Amino acid sequence: MDTLVSHSPIELARPAPRRTRQGRVVWGQRVVTVGSRAPVRVQSMTNTDTVDAMGTAVQVKELAIAGSELVRITVNTPEAAAQVPRIRELLDRWGIDVPLIGDFHYNGHRLLSEFPDCAQALSKYRINPGNVGRGAKKDAQFGQMIEAALKWDKPVRIGVNWGSLDQDLLAGLMDENARRPEPWEARQVMYEALIQSAIGSAGQAVDLGMAPEQVILSCKVSGVQDLIAVYRELARRCDYPLHLGLTEAGMGTKGTVASAAALSILLQEGIGDTIRVSLTPQPGESRTQEVLIASEILQALGLRAFVPSVTACPGCGRTTSTVFQELAKQIDDHLRAQMPVWRQQYPGVEKLKVAVMGCIVNGPGESKHADIGISLPGTGEAPAAPVYIDGHKAMTLRGDHIATEFHAIVERYIEQRFGQPEG
Ligand code: SF4
Repeated sequence: MDTLVSHSPIELARPAPRRTRQGRVVWGQRVVTVGSRAPVRVQSMTNTDTVDAMGTAVQVKELAIAGSELVRITVNTPEAAAQVPRIRELLDRWGIDVPLIGDFHYNGHRLLSEFPDCAQALSKYRINPGNVGRGAKKDAQFGQMIEAALKWDKPVRIGVNWGSLDQDLLAGLMDENARRPEPWEARQVMYEALIQSAIGSAGQAVDLGMAPEQVILSCKVSGVQDLIAVYRELARRCDYPLHLGLTEAGMGTKGTVASAAALSILLQEGIGDTIRVSLTPQPGESRTQEVLIASEILQALGLRAFVPSVTACPGCGRTTSTVFQELAKQIDDHLRAQMPVWRQQYPGVEKLKVAVMGCIVNGPGESKHADIGISLPGTGEAPAAPVYIDGHKAMTLRGDHIATEFHAIVERYIEQRFGQPEG
């Protein structure tokens, strides 16, 4: 499905080869195109201390393997900036070519000037115009960051956040609003401040020499309706690629649902070029959960395909057995676990559709719509499970080994349909 808006494309890559400490030449990173007609990209962010280069590189690797196409890391201190080249080097050594984005606040101008290896190792800089400096220092410090981006040929994201909005700009707009015969609601003024901060800073970056194609914008808020209102207006008023996400989406079900609701509406309207689900991990939960949710949102909307989809019915009183639930989970887990290998081995496998259904009511019909489906027997039905392949009934499974046999059938189907002919 094509997106409805056309932005200028941005390429995130390090153009020149370089030599690692071990003397190995690394020929740059994978090029990830953002904007224009490029697919909507999944982004994530680490929550490790960047000073811990190994810990951060391990988490970046996990996020990349889970499907994150861009990973942002905090660069908040000289010690963190000093470790960025080491993190890049570790990832290169492990064959993880995901572009790294540096997240800068308050001291980015200094860190990018004083740590050129850090500036070079990153593929993009996130600049928050709300805390790049106050008063006269603001323009100078913002200018220094743009200078680094120009020097190292890196794109930037002007990332505005309502938690750290430019207070001078907001105060000015509030004053202006007070003078209106019919003042806007405070919320409307806030939206305007977010949008003006993003577009104004982008214009400033372009005036300083950045190509408009090298600038991405975001205006993050934590409310679903606020996000939708702000991004609709932002998309109407500019042509820069947009990064979408609720800031502080929250935990668990709330964070997942809020992110899906907000992002889906905007994506459906063709708004958004990269997305992040800013989920607060539950205690002990993997950071990769945010990547899985972002990928699922894009896949559910039919914008991207990352993993084979398993359709399963919810179950009801027609089947008291949990066999179909267990089988659906096993198949889903297995397909996901295999994807890092299968992506290379079986190109196109992510488009596979499998159905695991609980009884005869919708089982055969849903199974026929899938590439491969099984309809398990409901309560009182004959103990037989018809299997449908490419819309046709291919066989019927019976007995105690239906799950194992269906697994084998799915594996065979994948091999035959997506395996590369030996050549
Ligand atoms: S397919 Fe059968 S078991 Fe599943 S929800 Fe529908 S009626 Fe219930």
